[in-house]
Amino acid sequence: MRQSQLFTKIKKEAPKEAESISHKYLARADFIDKLASGIYSLLPLGFRVHKKIENIIREEMTALGGQEIFLSVLIPKNLWVETDRWRTIEPPLFKTKDRHGAEFGLGPTHEEVVTDLARQRIKSYKDLPFSLFQIQNKFRNEMRATGGLLRVKEFVMKDLYSFHSSRDDAAEFYQKVKNAYFRIFNRCGLKPVYVEADPGTIGGELSHEFMVLSETGEDKVLICQKCNFAGNVEKFKGINICPRCKVPLRKFSSIESAHAFYLGTKYSKVMQANFVDKNGKSQPIIMGCYGIGLGRLMATIVEVYHDERGIIWPKEVAPFQIHLIPIEISNSRIKKVSEKIYRDLQKTGIEVLYDDREDVSAGEKFAEADLIGIPLRIVVSERTLKKDCAEIKKRGEKRVRFVKISQILNVKF
Ligand SMILES: [Zn+2]
Repeated sequence: MRQSQLFTKIKKEAPKEAESISHKYLARADFIDKLASGIYSLLPLGFRVHKKIENIIREEMTALGGQEIFLSVLIPKNLWVETDRWRTIEPPLFKTKDRHGAEFGLGPTHEEVVTDLARQRIKSYKDLPFSLFQIQNKFRNEMRATGGLLRVKEFVMKDLYSFHSSRDDAAEFYQKVKNAYFRIFNRCGLKPVYVEADPGTIGGELSHEFMVLSETGEDKVLICQKCNFAGNVEKFKGINICPRCKVPLRKFSSIESAHAFYLGTKYSKVMQANFVDKNGKSQPIIMGCYGIGLGRLMATIVEVYHDERGIIWPKEVAPFQIHLIPIEISNSRIKKVSEKIYRDLQKTGIEVLYDDREDVSAGEKFAEADLIGIPLRIVVSERTLKKDCAEIKKRGEKRVRFVKISQILNVKF
């Protein structure tokens, strides 16, 4: 991508209301644009990162055996009434009506819809287990939508739902999802803590959150330094000592980056989603649900990977792999060499952002490159060409190295 063509306007100042680093940097580097409080547009750089995260999640969910579906945002009132969540869900639903007066809730989550799909299709234990997932827009009627992408009213979420004929099978799948989630986070460069949590208005018997420790996080977790116990403060109110090994717990700020719920029969019972077991007896289906918010994950990565100059994207989620920056591109030799490097790298399938802008100073180009945070920078200038070289530098490292122009394609990125 030629930077002269990129639909991006870098800003010197962060929005006044921005408190978190991710909000400041994502707004300044123009990854996101605020449309209204808690509502953001993803611009080209932001959408590239978002898509990478989406693809990682899709790969891991498919590897788990999940079948991808796509459900509607408008969910008819009657389904919500079946579970009483039309009235009770927290935060409350965004509600709307069609021109005939029929009422709908904009889905913050889709348990009612998938349970309805299951009860129409599942007859016997032979039809189980299975799991469905989607990556789709969700709505949350937040009281306070602040923190940039960390707390919003509309966002893309991956939600996975699983259906089982036995508690053991459901528990085993819950563990498999846990492992898949750790793979997703690791690929995004994150190392979350797996925390026992309060199921809230999603409900169910057991719930875990994936918490990324961060000072800007609104959640608090208690962690035992001796065993691997970790719990959300909301669930373990007033508890100072590890319930397992009785040593004092330490409290950390964190960002909730994913949530898993062992729902059991909470939805299947009230919605009568049943199956006939091996003994010919009708039983409610046992369910689990598991969610990851993509935008929040993107912001969380920035909370973890940044310095005083900007973002430092982990390779697998970076908007581009290489930032190619010629200095004094008006010099015809510099331009010629840079254009060739750009073409050659693209041919090998590497994603390159090529700063081909002529009217921007070297200082400005470097400052913007540091803010955007592409993992590897290649600089071509009069000075480097004297040695027949380009200069290569990793974002976040001070060390630069010179590589012969003819050897650039052999560099391991
Ligand atoms: Zn312990």
